[in-house]
Amino acid sequence: MDHFDYSDGVLHAEAVALPRLAEAVGTPVYVYARATLTRHARVFRDALAVLPSVQIAFAVKSNPNLAVLKVLAAEGYGADVVSVGELERALAAGMPPERIVFSGVGKTQAELTRALEVGIGQFNLESAEEGLELAEIARALGRTASCALRVNPDVDAGTHGKISTGKAENKFGVPFDRAADIYARLAGEPGLAMRGLALHIGSQLARLDPLEAAFTKVGGLVRAIRAAGHAVTHMDLGGGVGVPYKAGEVFPQPADYAAMVARVTADWGVTLMFEPGRVITGNTGVLLTRVIRVKDGAGHPWVVVDAAMNDLARPAMYDAWHDFAAVTPDGTRMTANIVGPICESSDTFAMARDIDTVARGDLAVFRTAGAYGATMASTYNSRAMVPEVMVDGDRWAVVADRIAPATILAAERVPDFLV
Ligand SMILES: *Cc1c(COP(=O)(O)O)cnc(C)c1O
Repeated sequence: MDHFDYSDGVLHAEAVALPRLAEAVGTPVYVYARATLTRHARVFRDALAVLPSVQIAFAVKSNPNLAVLKVLAAEGYGADVVSVGELERALAAGMPPERIVFSGVGKTQAELTRALEVGIGQFNLESAEEGLELAEIARALGRTASCALRVNPDVDAGTHGKISTGKAENKFGVPFDRAADIYARLAGEPGLAMRGLALHIGSQLARLDPLEAAFTKVGGLVRAIRAAGHAVTHMDLGGGVGVPYKAGEVFPQPADYAAMVARVTADWGVTLMFEPGRVITGNTGVLLTRVIRVKDGAGHPWVVVDAAMNDLARPAMYDAWHDFAAVTPDGTRMTANIVGPICESSDTFAMARDIDTVARGDLAVFRTAGAYGATMASTYNSRAMVPEVMVDGDRWAVVADRIAPATILAAERVPDFLV
């Protein structure tokens, strides 16, 4: 259930007809349903309530919009951030610093310093080197950094290669067989308070068994680290639970995930931390677009829409599928290729797809665009930065402006040596 449904033959976001938004804001535009966001946040949180002690840190990179973060903050979510920019967003949304986790292999000195100053809850260290640098900064500031060590469990997540993060050849975390030694080394470092391990093996996972294998593996590490005399009080199990992108696909439900976690972690005796992204935001958004024209081709017709790979990068980047639906379908179907205006063949949303019949000027949506959609947008081909709208019942608001090419041009300079 995503609150993007037809009413009197017109696709709505909650109680707002999408043509109204297209007229008021223009296209392309991301449209989020607040009801879906709240619902997903609650379903995930309530599913995890079977576990004794839980903290949820929303993966901000999946949808960093301030209004989205506000909704999640009100639901008790903290944030998993991967840059100081995301950290400032989480703080601006009112997320308490102690519920913020900082992940990523390339945190700079400036980022570590800022995060220490605001007092975030946990640094997920991705290397011994990073831990030693953080310890130095913490000592200079007279602070103690709560830390988890991110372990690379060397498990195949079974997802697209570009969003796999838990194989030995990926850049993330420390090698599994060195983790206990690195943990011990960092635990002896003044300025650091090592409190556990973190892992995240990849995104858009269609099955739970790679997660179960990874959690089971790090469970062994918890025992080894404790046997060596070190405390483990927090375990961060990352994100990665996938969502269906095609109508009819079946994915693990939050309750299945929670049951698996409960089984694997039953004797860990820790606070469990989670970093869900896509499973919370994926279905909360659509990308609303208008058909510029339908162009005849050698094979199927080309439906050229005004959204492009700069607005929604997933198909170009990950060969991802997004369902396409007309806003006012007439009940007939066509087979077509769906492309954007950008001068690259990768600007292709679908080939030989069976879709609602559309013609020049028609509105349509790409579904399940709430995660890794607007957040990855660029201005490639000197296109505008795509705007975002949030709907709440029969109300709506622009929650990110369209940034016009002229505004972007105004930030560029011709140097003196060229004039
Ligand atoms: C991207 C990311 C997540 C979120 O992944 P989803 O698949 O969106 O749940 C969580 N943790 C880390 C460290 C990440 O990099």
